[in-house]
Amino acid sequence: MQPQIVLLKEGTDTSQGKPQLISNINACQSIVDAVRTTLGPRGMDKLIVNSQGKATISNDGATIMKLLDIVHPAAKTLVDIAKSQDAEVGDGTTSVVLLAGEFLKQVKPFIEEGVHPRIVIKAIRKALQLCMEKINEMAVRIEKQSKEEQRTLLEKCAATAMSSKLIHQQKDFFSKIVVDAVLSLDELLPLNMIGIKKVAGGSLEESQLVSGVAFKKTFSYAGFEMAPKSYEKCKIALLNIELELKAERDNAEIRVDNVKEYQKVVDAEWQILYNKLAKIHESGANVVLSKLPIGDVATQYFADRNMFCAGRVPDEDLKRTMKACGGAVMTTANDIKPSVLGFCERFEERQVGGDRFNLFQGCPNAKTSTLILRGGAEQFLEETERSLHDAIMIVRRTIKHDSVVAGGGAIEMELSKVLRDYSRTIAGKEQLLIAAIAKGLEVIPRQLCDNAGFDATNILNKLRQKHAQGGQWYGVDITKEDISDNFEQCVWEPSIIKINALTAAAEAACMILSVDETIKSPKAGEPPMAGGGMGMGRGMGRPM
Ligand code: ADP
Ligand code: MG
Repeated sequence: MQPQIVLLKEGTDTSQGKPQLISNINACQSIVDAVRTTLGPRGMDKLIVNSQGKATISNDGATIMKLLDIVHPAAKTLVDIAKSQDAEVGDGTTSVVLLAGEFLKQVKPFIEEGVHPRIVIKAIRKALQLCMEKINEMAVRIEKQSKEEQRTLLEKCAATAMSSKLIHQQKDFFSKIVVDAVLSLDELLPLNMIGIKKVAGGSLEESQLVSGVAFKKTFSYAGFEMAPKSYEKCKIALLNIELELKAERDNAEIRVDNVKEYQKVVDAEWQILYNKLAKIHESGANVVLSKLPIGDVATQYFADRNMFCAGRVPDEDLKRTMKACGGAVMTTANDIKPSVLGFCERFEERQVGGDRFNLFQGCPNAKTSTLILRGGAEQFLEETERSLHDAIMIVRRTIKHDSVVAGGGAIEMELSKVLRDYSRTIAGKEQLLIAAIAKGLEVIPRQLCDNAGFDATNILNKLRQKHAQGGQWYGVDITKEDISDNFEQCVWEPSIIKINALTAAAEAACMILSVDETIKSPKAGEPPMAGGGMGMGRGMGRPM
């Protein structure tokens, strides 16, 4: 009898070979089906409820994939590419998942028939290379001669990014705001210098852009009402100091044996606080912001001297104020000099909806702005914030790489045509594979049609014909059930989105195709599964 070779721990689950590959592809397919219907201006949204019962409504591929909590090891790759697309360019997250899934679907018959995965991978890489060359050749550089032209370009890209979102009705309104916000930054375009604050209530159109820093009024003590609420040319002290009485008492253990002594301690405490307050006052600051609480004594002290103060300011807001207005965050009151104070042209406290906001405008240093969003339900505001994030990322990307292509499936159709033409010049398996990938690219226009309820076959036929005749920017016209020159229709997307999406999708497809075995260790603590069924006794150690 041949001895049995035990290589892996009992209970390890291994599956390998072609069936494993096919099952990975199928798993990816079911993920793609989950996000398929969200693509495009007529896409639907998903409502996802997590285990804590929190509901999220979203149209953003990356957000949905993140919330789906996928456990399948191969399918997780798709989640990762959606996340990376989100981090890298911010938009096109649904497209990237769809493309990867469709590439896999199109090559699946070849794998089933026994074509070696390596040959498929080679074909995908070749196709990707051809696509990159074509995009770079086709992309239209917009001359940045006048500021006006650049603005129009940016607004159009932002509008395209938002047209598939919940806020598409207000896209003209928001694309202006988004472009203003991004253009107000310095040339590094730091994302964290655009603050987004949400105030429930009101209508979307009441949203506003504040050029400068704004944050919700923090918790304040009695005496606050007396403080002035607006200044011109104001000096700002930024602190990380607690200005409260009790703080001093907690710092040490004190033993006293008569009342007089105790009174001295109390007096000393007051004295310490007053010294701090006096130092801050002497520095000439009008506005005092602190990360730590500012108590009632301090609040009244400042109010008596015509100063405004706010304690418990969130860290990010304090940092943004520091970057915008200059100055430094001080941790002791001793060296507060005029040179460490920030400065802004205008400070005011203003009512926005049900909340009061502190606004700092005309900041000399870094350029920053804050979007105050208004709107109904909280979930709606959250989705609005995500959509604006997409649009802001797109505008930033477009400023950096100022070339655009037409969306609505136009660029995908043209790439598909290029691949098909190329496949006719070669022979063998590669020809069929490249043609299959060409077909895979058509998934974007097809899905756009399906989601809008159009006859996809009919429109795709029209598009193929147009592209064969040289109409390279023809894509789906979502308003009339037809095709149109999407470049003229101003459905523009930065070419970097498409480059990134295609590269990531091809990479993911190749990665999934190159895996032919999954070995899963049994979870710690879990009893090992009874190997191949009963009766496979390993001899001695087995309890009876
Ligand atoms: P993603 O997460 O991939 O960005 P979207 O739901 O935002 O997914 O859909 C983007 C797709 O919708 C792109 O292919 C884009 O070209 C297309 N699209 C956006 N606006 C329009 C429009 N007005 N007409 C036709 N297609 C559009
Ligand atoms: Mg989008």
